[in-house]
Amino acid sequence: MTIEQFSLLWQCFAQRVRQNQEHLDDLDRAIGDGDHGTNLTRGLGKVEILGNEPPDPHLNLQTLSKKVGMTLLSTVGGASGALWGSGLMKAALVFPMSSECDDRTLVLWMDTFVGNIEERGKAHVGDKTMVDVMRPAVNWLQAAPQDRPLRARLRELRELAQHYAQGTKDLQARRGRASYLGARSIGHVDPGAFSSALWWECLDSVLGG
Ligand code: ADP
Ligand code: MG
Repeated sequence: MTIEQFSLLWQCFAQRVRQNQEHLDDLDRAIGDGDHGTNLTRGLGKVEILGNEPPDPHLNLQTLSKKVGMTLLSTVGGASGALWGSGLMKAALVFPMSSECDDRTLVLWMDTFVGNIEERGKAHVGDKTMVDVMRPAVNWLQAAPQDRPLRARLRELRELAQHYAQGTKDLQARRGRASYLGARSIGHVDPGAFSSALWWECLDSVLGG
């Protein structure tokens, strides 16, 4: 992954979330407070603007992951902002202070990112949150035959992530705002799981083939 690809990943995510903003708000309206699409769109809009800043010779993968994280943390608001933001800041330490990293480092970065979300949100797979997409996706990537190029694995993961997101429909929420609804949260896709699937779609668009 190059720094240009990392930057494109967030631009793609900003675009896909914006295109799905109403749908994400609708999903959140059903089991939360209706702001997930609006929250993420606001924060990712700020991340997009980072790309317009004059080229910074000190920028590397580590500083950029931190910068994106800090921007999301301070602008998204809501639970998702804190989770995406702190996850990216923590995972940044795995990245080298250079403009490129190998596939192993990238997968370790993802694992650290998701691990931080799990730790901070105290969420496990099955709790009907973004972790229900993020964790199985990273685990699948790590378990898939490593002789297959990462881009081929990401192509497959794009569909799988959608499938994981749809799988949250049948679950009862045990974390976040939706958990207040108890059994009434069953029957709706989790908004954070849906937006997380868009992120995997973008990772494939940027790196896959
Ligand atoms: P808020 O719930 O504060 O309004 P958002 O609507 O932006 O924040 O985001 C809601 C999403 O955040 C949920 O759909 C869920 O995927 C995720 N989420 C909420 N709480 C947690 C948690 N404790 N752990 C992991 N993910 C969580
Ligand atoms: Mg909300």
